Parts: sequence; C-alpha cells; structure tokens
Amino acid sequence: MKRFALAGNPNCGKTTLFNNLTGSTAHVGNWPGVTVEKKDGVYKKLEEQISIVDLPGIYSLSPYTSEEVVSRNYILDEKPDCVINIIDATNLERNLYLTTQLLEIDVPVVVAVNMMDLLDKAGDQLNEKLLEEKLGVPVVKISALEEENLKTLMERAYEASKKERKGQSVLKNKDLHHLVGDLVIAFKGKKVDNPLFHAIKLIENDEIEVKMHEDLLPMVTEFKKTIHDQTFGDDIEAIIADERYNYISDNFKNAIIHSELNEEVKVKENKSDKIDKVLTHKVFGLLIFAAILFLVFHLTFSENFLFLGGLFKDVAPSFEGSIYEGLFWTDGGINSPGVILFNFFDMSFSGIIDAVSGAMSSGLGEGHWLTGFICDGVLSGLFAILGFLPQILVLFLFFSIMEDTGYMARVAFILDRIFRKFGLSGRAFIPMIMGFGCSVPAMVNTRTLADEHEKVATIRVIPFFSCGAKLPILIAIAGGVCEVFNFPSVDLITYSMYVVGVATAIISVLIMRHSTQRGEAAPFIMELPQYHLPQFKSLMIHLWDKAKHFVKKAFTIILASTIVIWFLSNFGWDWKMAEMEDSILASIGKFIQPLFTPLGFGSQLSAFGWVFAVAAITGLIAKENVIATFSVLAAVIVSGFEGTEEGVAEAVIMIQNTGITWPGAIAFIAFNMLTIPCFAACATAKAELQKGTFKWTILFWIVASFIGASFIYCFLSMFSVDTLAWAIPVTVVFIALGVLTVFYLRYYERKQDAKHA
Ligand code: GDP
Ligand code: MG
Repeated sequence: MKRFALAGNPNCGKTTLFNNLTGSTAHVGNWPGVTVEKKDGVYKKLEEQISIVDLPGIYSLSPYTSEEVVSRNYILDEKPDCVINIIDATNLERNLYLTTQLLEIDVPVVVAVNMMDLLDKAGDQLNEKLLEEKLGVPVVKISALEEENLKTLMERAYEASKKERKGQSVLKNKDLHHLVGDLVIAFKGKKVDNPLFHAIKLIENDEIEVKMHEDLLPMVTEFKKTIHDQTFGDDIEAIIADERYNYISDNFKNAIIHSELNEEVKVKENKSDKIDKVLTHKVFGLLIFAAILFLVFHLTFSENFLFLGGLFKDVAPSFEGSIYEGLFWTDGGINSPGVILFNFFDMSFSGIIDAVSGAMSSGLGEGHWLTGFICDGVLSGLFAILGFLPQILVLFLFFSIMEDTGYMARVAFILDRIFRKFGLSGRAFIPMIMGFGCSVPAMVNTRTLADEHEKVATIRVIPFFSCGAKLPILIAIAGGVCEVFNFPSVDLITYSMYVVGVATAIISVLIMRHSTQRGEAAPFIMELPQYHLPQFKSLMIHLWDKAKHFVKKAFTIILASTIVIWFLSNFGWDWKMAEMEDSILASIGKFIQPLFTPLGFGSQLSAFGWVFAVAAITGLIAKENVIATFSVLAAVIVSGFEGTEEGVAEAVIMIQNTGITWPGAIAFIAFNMLTIPCFAACATAKAELQKGTFKWTILFWIVASFIGASFIYCFLSMFSVDTLAWAIPVTVVFIALGVLTVFYLRYYERKQDAKHA
C-alpha cells in the first residue's frame, strides 16, 4: 500500500484534512501542538488504497523538540511515497519556509494550500500557477474544513507518487553552491540517502546532522573562514535562513491578489486585535479567565444555579414530590444544565435497579445472594459511574468551545507570563489544561517541551489537574459533605478543589525547578490562531471521544473491579460468605488504615473507617473505582440500599457510618487528586520519562498527596467544630516548613548565581 505523509506548520489544518480523508476522529484543536504523535489512517477513494500519516506540526526541519524529530525522521527514514505539504493560505509566506526545506528531500511533494474558504470569503485570489511554476511541484487549493477539492489533491498526489523526484534547493548563493556540491558528492560517496538535504543541514549546523556526520564537518569549517556576510558575519545558519526568506518574498509576494473587499477584513482584524487587547491583558485577561472558569463550573455542577432561591417557592408546591421537582430545581432555584442531565440519568438508573431487584426477588426468593451480586455488586457500581457521564460531557463541551474558538490559545499566552516566573514556558500550559480531560494524552503532549527537566516537572504535576475520572469523587463527596454537614454549595467545594490541585502544581513546579529539575524554559513562540465560531462537528467529535472512552472503561476495567470488590467484601479468608467486618477486604483495609491517620481518614474513624483506605487503593486501578467501591460497600453496609439518590447517597452513608469529619472528607478528595494516578497514566509517564526518573516520580506523587492532604486536613480542622488539639500546631509547622523551603530556595539560587558570576 502506498503511504502519503501530511506535513506542515502547527495549526495549518493537517488533522482536519486527515480526519476528512480517512474518516478518523483524531483531536483537532485551534492551537499548535495538539498532534504530537503520528497517526495512521486509510484513504479509500482511489483505485488503490492509500495509507495516510498525520505528522506533528513543524516550522522547520531543524528540530528542537522531540515531536519535531518525529516528523523529520518519518520523512527521512520511512520514505513515504509522497509528502503532502499543507500550507495555510492566510499565512502563505511563513508556511513556505518549511516547503523550501521539504523540497530538498528526494521525495515526491505536493503542496496543498489550505483554508481557501477563508481566502474566498475575503475575496482574495491565489495564483497557484505561479506557485506551481516556481516550486516545481503540483499545487492544489483545498479547504480541509469544507472538504473542497480533496479528491483532486489525492489524485495529484497519487500521480506524483508514481515518479521519482530529486531534491531541489532554492539556495542560489554562488559560494555556497560549490560547498553544497562538494558535500553532496561526499554524501553520495558514503551512500547516504537524500544527499542534498543532509549537505544543507550540515552547513546549517543542524545538531542532529553534526552528530551524525562529524567526519565531513571540516569541509564546512574551512568554508566558514572564507565568508564574511555584512549582516550575519560567519553565522551560516542565519545566512541560509535569510536566503530562504528572501527567495520566498521575491517570488511569492504577489501570489495572493488582495481584493477591494479587504477593507472589511481589516476591520475584522482590527476587531480581533481589540478583543485580544482585553483578553490578553495582564490583569483583566486573568480575571476574565477566572470568571469564565467559575461560570463553567457553576453551569456544570451547581444546583440552584440561577440563585433564584425562593422565586419558585410559589410554583414548587404544586410539583412537590413529583418527578419534576428532583429533576429541575432544588430549594426553589433552577438546576444547572449539568445537574438536570445528571438527575435524569440518576432517576433512570435507580428505576432500572429497582425493577431488576424486584424481578429477581420474586423469581429467586427474598435475599438471594445472586440478587445481591447483580444489583449491589454489578449494577450499582456500574451506574454509579455512568451517572457522571452527563456532567463530564457538559464540562468538556465548555472546554472544547473555549479551545475551538481560539480562546484557549489566548489563555496560554497570558499564562506564559506567569509560568515564566515558575520556570516553565507557556507551552507547558497546553499539556496541563489537557490534564483536566485525561492525564494520558496530556503526558504524551509534553513532547512539545524542549527542556528535559521542564518535561519531567510537567509530567509530575499533570495528575494534579484533576481529570474527568476524578470528577465523580469530587461530586459525590462534596455532595455528601453538603448534605450531612449542611454546607451551602457543592460547586464551591468542587471549584476550590480544582484550585487546590492547581496550587499544588504551582508549588511543586516551583520547588522542582529550583532543586532537582533546574533548567531554562525555552522561549514561547506561538502565534495566536484566528477566532472562529466553534465547529459543531469538531465539538461532537471531542465529546464522542470522551463518552466512548468513559463508557468503555466503565464496562471493562471498572466493571471487573467492582465485581472483585463485591466478592472481597462479601467473603472471608475461608472463602465462605461473611459479614463485612470479617471480609477479606476489611482485613486489608484495616491493615493499611493507620497510614491515613494524619490525613483524617485513618485510625480515628469508627467501625467502617477502613473503606476510605480501600477506596483509595482501588482508585489506583482507575479513579472511577473510588466511587464505584463506595457504591458496592454502601449496599453491604445498609442492606436494601437502593440506587444513588442525587449521586451522593453513598457518600452520605460512608460519612455517617465512619464518623469522618468534613475536613477529613475533603482531605480524602485531595488525597485522591494528588496521589499516584491510575495505571494508564503511570504507564504513560514511565514511557515518556527517561530511565530512572519514574521511580522518583511515583515517590513524588506519594509524598505530595500525603503532605497536601494532611495539610488540608489540619488547616480545615481549625474551622471545624471538633477541632483537634494538635491541628493548630501541626498546621503552623506545615506553613513554617513551606516558608522555610521557599526561603532556602531563594538563598540557594543567589548562591548559585554568585558562583556563576
Ligand atoms: P493541525 O494543527 O495542523 O493538525 O491543525 P488542525 O487540523 O488541528 O486545525 C487547526 C484549526 O484550523 C482548527 O480550528 C480547524 O477547525 C481549522 N481549520 C482547518 N482547516 C480549515 C479550513 O480549511 N478552513 C478553515 N476556515 N479552518 C480550518
Ligand atoms: Mg494536528
């Protein structure tokens, strides 16, 4: 099967094209650096099937980061039958810089000028004949988004792939020409493929090339002595870059013919500049971002979200006790969309469990173990998890909208200024924000970071950006706390917990970047993508991906774990059914329980206190297990416990039967957020980190979660009715330790600087 590779600058539309050619649903994002791994798919509309590879975006073939190396190596080593070079028509000249380098490789190249719909809208025209003539390769105008001309593109690429193509360079400098010629001969002598490409890269002082062909370096060094460019001296890399840009502007300045209509575009651009001035403002930008985030959380989690407490009191009685009451409002205020959906799922699931348990009881007789197994073990665990799907989807719908409109890229831009203070570049923001979805792709995305230490630090804090799977823990326990301890607002707790996660991440990064993971953050170059309305299709793709992943996990790993938990909590070591206190699970839980005493859910708890320890352990397999475990155990503790009224009934049972205090319950949430992430994330971290770093990373997570959760427990205990006598001194010690650490780091830093100076 022939293989075509898609190459181009970040954000030029490669993945959109890839999805539309292959029918895949890879993640399209309106910011650079979304695709960091190559992806394969198949195009079926030609006489022969074609394998298509979506490569990470690159600005040049001299790579700085590991994702860029992926693209370069693929083109050089895997020798695709054709490279489709995608160019953003709205940014033609900058995009052509990469093209001049691709053309130097001995591979058929077809240039696809994308985003023609935008050009058309502006009334501009592209002279593709000019491009074709000067570049010497086929040029096709397309719109990946509107699927325009894709067939033509593939046909021309198919044709091109049938002929061999020799690399061509646009560099015409006479002296350089001789050197290139000599090097090409030398490379050919060494039987190296793509001699022209390697020759030029060696002259450019490309890091990879210099390492690979050290023997030929003297030729370049000799030559360097002979040149003295007026502007660049003997910096050949700069001289060559300059020549490429000159070539582009000399030839293609007039490739786009701007129309009269353009005034309109300018007005629009002005408008977008004005919006940017506000959204990326040092102070307002941040405030707006915080406000938007809060609104998003409010719309997702809060009952009573319109603050209309009381307004519906007059209407409400007529519905009291009816199905609508639980669904749409709480205490006379309207529920947020997320909560309405959640309630809807919840009611349906309880209905199903009731029906099944009723049917089984009448068939098998009251209290049969199989009824317990199916209803309490399998169904309640499963539904406890599936019930959270709506809220997760609502939250990610908002995130996707922020991303697709181009707003998230602005956020990366404002945060870069702050990140720099902590020793990270704004690029690190992208994997972090992805961490709110799932740590696995987020960790893979750290490949966009050039500095290895920055990468390690980022991977370690990604789990602190609480992922979708941790959401059920938050919602259920926050709900439970509100109900048992009469707290006013669930979303305030969930929002604060997200803030705690982010704060821990910042503190950890600060410490690491000043101690074990020192280094320079690479400069952050990212142009802001254009604002556009969110694309319905790409939103749906995001949500579908999320839902699919979640449902698959619920029916496989989580289902399996709940079954195991049910057995372990219903059987004793003698493999006979036993009371829960004598079950296998209880004995394991009791054994590790003391560990969590400083965190507020250890030895101080009564009777069933070990369930928290057990839940935390099952969470290591998948974070959804924490609540699934509660659900299974709740059914054992309270016989005849049914369903998940408002999704928090399990948490309420746990709180009431263990005597946990509210600071302890909140510390439990924090512990799960900060501790070792799920199996999948650990495996990814291990794969992405250099050898020997992983074990320290695990240790880091354990330490962070114990310190973080115990700090929160102690701190909150000061406000709790049942203040522990030791909470205040311990909290003071913690704060003192924190302050001392920061001071020490400052001192250490100064000493280092003094040493360098
Ligand atoms: P990649 O980084 O090169 O993979 O680019 P993506 O495929 O992720 O697309 C980046 C952004 O450009 C997304 O917001 C797309 O919706 C948008 N986009 C891609 N192709 C087109 C196009 O032909 N026209 C328009 N108007 N937008 C496009
Ligand atoms: Mg992409």
